Amino acid sequence: KKLIVAIDGHSGCGKSTTAKLLAEQLNYMYIDSGAMYRAVTLYFLRQGIAPDDVFQVKQSLEQIDITFEVNPESGKSEIVLNGEKIEAQIRTMEVSGKVSEVSAIPVVRRFLVEQQQKLGENKGIVMDGRDIGTVVFPEAEVKVFMTADIMQRAMRRQKELVKKGQKVDLSSIIDNLSSRDFQDSNRDDSPLRKADDAVVLDTSNITIAQQTERILEVVQQ
Ligand code: C5P
Repeated sequence: KKLIVAIDGHSGCGKSTTAKLLAEQLNYMYIDSGAMYRAVTLYFLRQGIAPDDVFQVKQSLEQIDITFEVNPESGKSEIVLNGEKIEAQIRTMEVSGKVSEVSAIPVVRRFLVEQQQKLGENKGIVMDGRDIGTVVFPEAEVKVFMTADIMQRAMRRQKELVKKGQKVDLSSIIDNLSSRDFQDSNRDDSPLRKADDAVVLDTSNITIAQQTERILEVVQQ
């Protein structure tokens, strides 16, 4: 039987890395819901859309088409915005610095949640984000809430950015992760919180392989 696996938690706990591996092992589709919020943010930055201009925000959402395509070389699913591959463009500090403000806009959330629910219609999906187990798929069979020590998270994120050729100092990463955690946890609409039936996973002192294994055990229960 195909399931829905919802992985939520704080910024930079390794949710996407784990979710991706898990989807591969289960032969499920992987959807990075954070990438969708980042795509909308990139669009707003490029077009100069102010998050508090509700009229402009609504109009611009009509121009946004987000899809996922499998890269034939890596086999990984990559986000596409209006036909353009933007996987690298959405991982910059500029987008990271703006995304929590954009994702607090109620119409933006409604727009993306609806698309996320459609993607999960056939089950067999691993989706990671902030409100997947609470809002997008409250009926998900497996819910995990990931958290980790801020220092560990920042150091891992820094390594990832270095791999992508971006040199960012640790203190800016810590600032960004903690301000996103704060904004994500304190927005009025669907704040980041653990679903009552989610399993908590602290990843401060375990490897990616271990955390993936841990979730796989929950799936197979
Ligand atoms: O997962 P990632 O860290 O890339 O997400 C970027 C941002 O998108 C989060 O900090 C949060 O503001 C927003 N987000 C959200 N709801 C989700 C996924 C991401 O509000 N389901």
